[in-house]
Order: sequence, then structure tokens, then C-alpha cells
Amino acid sequence: MADSLKTLKDLPAETPDGYRVVLKANIEIPEEAPLALQNGAEGIGLYRSEFLFLTPGQSADEERQYRAYKQVLETMRNKPVTIRTLDVGGDKIIPDLQVTDEKNPLLGWRAIRFCLAHQEFFKTQLRALLRSSVHGNLKIMFPMISGIEELERALVVLDEAKAELTIKGQAFAENIEVGAMIEIPSAAMTADILAKKAAFFSVGTNDLVQYSLAVDRGNERIAYLAQPFHPAVLRFIKRTIDEAHKAGIPAAMCGELAGNPHATALLLGLGLDEFSMSSASIPLVKKIIRSVSRADCQQLADAALGCTSYLEVENLVTQWMHYRI
Ligand code: PEP
Ligand code: MG
Repeated sequence: MADSLKTLKDLPAETPDGYRVVLKANIEIPEEAPLALQNGAEGIGLYRSEFLFLTPGQSADEERQYRAYKQVLETMRNKPVTIRTLDVGGDKIIPDLQVTDEKNPLLGWRAIRFCLAHQEFFKTQLRALLRSSVHGNLKIMFPMISGIEELERALVVLDEAKAELTIKGQAFAENIEVGAMIEIPSAAMTADILAKKAAFFSVGTNDLVQYSLAVDRGNERIAYLAQPFHPAVLRFIKRTIDEAHKAGIPAAMCGELAGNPHATALLLGLGLDEFSMSSASIPLVKKIIRSVSRADCQQLADAALGCTSYLEVENLVTQWMHYRI
């Protein structure tokens, strides 16, 4: 590998045979954005907005949200910033706001489900996002979409928020792209349908693994089953990417797998357009991208899709990396 990690910052994430992808950062608080730039992020692929709401003793009213979103957009200086609407529930509970008596919280009142049931609350976030959009290049992303009805309902609430701002004479950017996270098997299976209403997809592999394999992502006893190279997960990822491309929209990934150097070549071969990961992972992933050919990666992906178990995929990828990286 020719490039040293330090010299990589300003080089493109491009394979030697000219296949260009985009590397972005995942952040949880606005103060992380400068680190993303230092590591060469071309944007923010996932800002987990719920962390604003999880700060004890602080309410996330419209003004506080607006200031946080504006801060990230301004720091990123017109690079794209994808802000995910509130993803609470499951393991992320806002004490004053949410019920804690669910028997299966990970299958319960999470994310977009919670927001659609609390529309005024949801609209407050959407107004803050819209207002912040004049300060940079904002994209909005909805988490835990399970089917087209949820995406359509969320888009209606977004239109209502826009109408409210228009009446008040408050500015927001035209044509903000709105995307869907693909992190539930039903979303991956209906990616062709969702693609008609989404401007982009972002695969959330943390939840996609959890829900495809029925493995609670926080349960140590069964952690060995949480295998992103499981053939079922790979098929969901492939399907999502292929349907995005058929519809002419980009396919991103913001789950942990996107920043796993062991998976980089395989994801390139599957056709992923954008990888979003913790800032610190960007240089190594970029270094790998700049040292492998797209054609070789496609062969690897084809072989991986033909494997019958995650162990077989893992061995294949390990061997492949050994000889090329
Ligand atoms: C994911 O599920 O992969 C994801 C990025 O979302 P989170 O980890 O915040 O649930
Ligand atoms: Mg998720």
C-alpha cells in the first residue's frame, strides 16, 4: 500500500482502476465535526440527533436543536451533512418522554414509530432541521423505516413543518434530500418500493444484523451470532444497493460494517457508493480503497454471495486480503 495514513487526508477515495466512492463520518455531538474534517471526511453521513435529547437536565427545544444542527452544517462548510431524526427507544430511552415498560423494546416504540405517534414533537425537530438548512448542505434521514407507509407519513409531517415555516416567513433550503435508513429486513425486501420516495438509502448494519438474525445487539451471550457476513445479511445489503441503483439513487452505509477494514473490498464489490464511519476509521478504509481494483472487488463480492455460511465468507475475505493488502 503506497499511501501513508497521514498523507491520505486530501486524496480521493478511489480505486487504482478509477472507481470513486465517498467517505463520510458518523457523529453524535456537533463538537465531533472538526475531527471528521481532520480525518478527511467528505461529509457527515450520520449525525445521531438523539444525543441532543439524552443530555441529562437539558431540554432539546427548537432553538437548541437549531443551534446544534447549524453548528455542524457551518463546521462542515457546505459538505453534505445527513442528520437522522430522533432514534430513541430500544436501548436509548429519554426518561421523561418515553415508556420503559415494553416487553420487547427493540421491537417496540422506537425511532420513526415514536416520532409519528408524537407529531408535534417530531415537527419541532423538523422545523429546527429545515431552519438550519440555510447554513449548509443538509440531508434528512428517517430511521427504522419498515415500509412505504411510514416513509410517506413522515414526508407528510415534513411538508407540514415546511408549510408552518412558510406562513411565518422563515427561510429553508429548497430541495433538501430526504432518505431512508435500511435497517429492517422488510425495508431491504421492499427497497424497490421505498426507492420511489427516498432520495438515498443508508444501510444501518447494526440493526439490520440484529433484526435479520434475531440477535439482540446488546446481549453478550449471543453476540457470537451477530455476523454481518451472514449470507442473509449480505443478500439484504446487495438487494438494497441494486434497487437503489435501478432507481438512480445512491446507496450509503452508516452501520459499523462500513468502517470495518475487513469488509471494505467486499462492500466496494457490492457497489456501495458511500461509506460512513467513525472519523478515526476513515484513513485506513481509504488506504484500502486506494490499493484494490474494483474489478477484483467485484469478483470477491460474487464469490462471497455464493458462500453458504458466514465462516465461509470470512475465510474467503481473509484469504483475499492476505494476498492483496
Ligand atoms: C445502525 O443500526 O446500523 C445504525 C447506524 O444506527 P444505530 O447504531 O444508531 O442504531
Ligand atoms: Mg439503527
